[in-house]
Amino acid sequence: MRLALLVLILMSIGCEGSKKQESFLHNGDVFRMKSLPEPSGVRTGSGAPGEKYWQQRANHSIQVRLDVETNTIHGNEVITYYNNSPDELSYIWIQLEQNVHREDSIRSREGRSTGEREFQGIHISHLAINRKNAKWQEYCTIAKVLLDEPLLPNNKLELSIEWSFAMPTKASMRMGYDESYEDGPVWELAQWFPTPCVYDDVHGWNTLPYIGRGEFYTNFGDYDVEITVPDNHVVLASGALQNQKIVLTDEQNKRLEEAKRSDKKVIIRSEDELIKNSSGEQTWKFKGKQIRTFAWATSASFIWEAASVEIDTLDGSAKRVLCQVGYPNEESDIWDEGVEYLQHSIKYYSDTMYPYPWPVMSMARGKAGGMEYPMLIFCRGSSHEGLFNVTDHEVGHNWFPMIVNTDERRHAWMDEGFNTFVNHYSLEAFYGEREHKPDVSKYIASKFMHDLKAINTPPDLLKSRRHLSYRKPGYGLRFLREEILGEDRFDEAWKAYIHNWAFKSPRPADFYRAMENGAGVDLQWFFKGFFEETMQLDQAITSVKQNKDGVAITFENLEDWVCPVDVTITCEDGSSHWYKLPVTIWAWSNQHKQTFKLPSKVMKVELDASSAYPDINLANNTWTLRDVKK
Ligand SMILES: [Zn+2]
Repeated sequence: MRLALLVLILMSIGCEGSKKQESFLHNGDVFRMKSLPEPSGVRTGSGAPGEKYWQQRANHSIQVRLDVETNTIHGNEVITYYNNSPDELSYIWIQLEQNVHREDSIRSREGRSTGEREFQGIHISHLAINRKNAKWQEYCTIAKVLLDEPLLPNNKLELSIEWSFAMPTKASMRMGYDESYEDGPVWELAQWFPTPCVYDDVHGWNTLPYIGRGEFYTNFGDYDVEITVPDNHVVLASGALQNQKIVLTDEQNKRLEEAKRSDKKVIIRSEDELIKNSSGEQTWKFKGKQIRTFAWATSASFIWEAASVEIDTLDGSAKRVLCQVGYPNEESDIWDEGVEYLQHSIKYYSDTMYPYPWPVMSMARGKAGGMEYPMLIFCRGSSHEGLFNVTDHEVGHNWFPMIVNTDERRHAWMDEGFNTFVNHYSLEAFYGEREHKPDVSKYIASKFMHDLKAINTPPDLLKSRRHLSYRKPGYGLRFLREEILGEDRFDEAWKAYIHNWAFKSPRPADFYRAMENGAGVDLQWFFKGFFEETMQLDQAITSVKQNKDGVAITFENLEDWVCPVDVTITCEDGSSHWYKLPVTIWAWSNQHKQTFKLPSKVMKVELDASSAYPDINLANNTWTLRDVKK
């Protein structure tokens, strides 16, 4: 069917050049985006939230106890759920993400078990709505809670849940139990408590299951969390510590206060102060304001170091952010600079994107890593540089998706790709002239030309997430900034996107519109070809003819995507001339002929001399006079 159609098109065109591609280009389709959702009062045509924008809110008050004897987590929570939508809700979907480790999870049934053969999942012992027992139906990583009466718009309800689960001990998927340290195991807890799925204006209830590649889409809210652990443990969490005078010694308490004012690292708990055995339990209290989830890490083995860094806030006043690390002694040689890494990244991203809104950033070493949560990251690294790269990346996630709350289950590129993009500049700023390796290797288009899935594909449907969620979108934004829009034009649109969507949830269409509006440039061909579809770029020089007026060059576009043409012409007199032909030269043909006036004979014509373009075939990008003479 498709072949017959292609033959027909080729016959009807019947001209020279690459005929297959003409069928793409002659209808100008590449310049038109697939239809975007209609703008509304919720999401405007300019890519900003509208005056009717709404999102749900879920405040959590949680008490949790880690029983180290049985290695079990016992939780008790009250969630205050606010229905800010215009809709009546007759049920509430909740996340039970730890059930991904169960044998009947989608992940296990795909043959990719996390290795927790004995794992029974989360056991909910009690669930109530407004203090009345409620019914629920579990479907592995999600459950549907039925409401006796619908939750009306602008109303709230109280969801109370008691639950427990045995700590997964083999898996390291975003949380982990690591007993490889002499001074005691490290527990990292993430996605560990039942919480409402997101209900939004685009999909209603977001019930995509937790399989593993797709991370999280969650509600903003305030968290009050009390964590009970053995009294020789330290706890780092997604919040500001509320009872440091109770859980710390007087001396440690003083040091922590000093760290809050100090650029220089302060050791809060040294190796010598680690205590092997506990004499009871202690409860650490944390508050996290306006965060999209809550994670924590605890260990008796944590050496604890901290300092702080000054940043400018939105109103122009200065504030200090506490930067702290917890790691077992075995990691001292690599983690000794951890606090400094956090200081750099918090400052750099605050200065270049949006002020870090929370009072603290912590980093822990255990089995899981790297992984990001608000105010807390889990990192691993086998060298200083490796640890810095992962730290910078996980801190960067505190902007995408912790501040700009994108749907990671559907659009992983909007957090991983955006983050990879900003990491590049943060690393450059950190290392300056010093040599370093990038955190994601260079994007080489020809390597991926057979990987025909669009970037904007849900990550659980992608095989090569590293490529399509990180490298390609990260590179794509750099290309857009450095080659298409220019830094000023890009940065203004980019910053406006971040500021407009801070603490809200944009969709891909909002991003596309925000960039087009802010930069004032039609970018449909760019977003369509590079993010929404699997188009490829192959630009070529097919003919160079010199005459007394200059040189006539024929360029061809041999694949289905288009880009501007970046051409450098070198003349016999040694002069070099650079031209940038706009993308619209491809509007009606895949062949473009242009004459350039030049001072002397042309020796060399080169496309994309700085190798910035995602061209899949570099062999046809250069013409030299010498080649012709041969
Ligand atoms: Zn990431």
